[in-house]
Amino acid sequence: MKRIKAVYPGSFDPPTNGHLDLIERGSKIFDELVVAILRNPEKDPLFSVTDRRQMLESMTAGFDNVSVDTFHGLTVDYALRMEARAILRGIRAISDYEYELQMALMNRKLQPGLETVFMMPAEKYSYLSSRLVREVAQLGGNIDCLVPELVAQKLREKMDVANRFDNSDGNDQREMAPAERVTTERQAARNIKPRKRKS
Ligand code: ADP
Repeated sequence: MKRIKAVYPGSFDPPTNGHLDLIERGSKIFDELVVAILRNPEKDPLFSVTDRRQMLESMTAGFDNVSVDTFHGLTVDYALRMEARAILRGIRAISDYEYELQMALMNRKLQPGLETVFMMPAEKYSYLSSRLVREVAQLGGNIDCLVPELVAQKLREKMDVANRFDNSDGNDQREMAPAERVTTERQAARNIKPRKRKS
């Protein structure tokens, strides 16, 4: 019998409990599920593709039929290369529907043999998005119930880096010696600007 493989594409910046919920549901109906991180040079992500891949690999380690990959270009071309029969996408609310419908119909036009399958997360994740998680983290809110512990930890690290930049006068960077680290941390500081809390 032919095994049915699906691709679950997205930015996953960062991966959330909503993504995980969908991965778990997808892993139950497809024989194989590939979580595929889109490498989009036009976006300025908070987490590097390598970080996102590591987080997703760790989050999905318990699923035998789930793997993590990265791709660029059209999702349908990637799905075809992977010999996938379906694209998995999540619908949280009506607001997702219009965009997802357009995308699914365009993908069908480009590749009629490929089906888009929509799944809904548990209600408690229906308001959850990577963008909101980034914003809550930026404002110092508690993100523990929104993302797996590993992701929360990585977000806290980014916040610490951003705080250090915010509190420095820009000249004192002695503790951040390796050039690569400085570049990465500058990037993080650009992406998360912590607001000072009133004490
Ligand atoms: P994209 O930039 O492609 O929208 P995302 O990482 O934001 O990438 O989302 C990838 C997929 O996961 C999309 O189909 C999105 O609707 C879905 N998704 C994101 N958050 C949730 C959630 N909380 N519950 C269900 N699906 C979700």
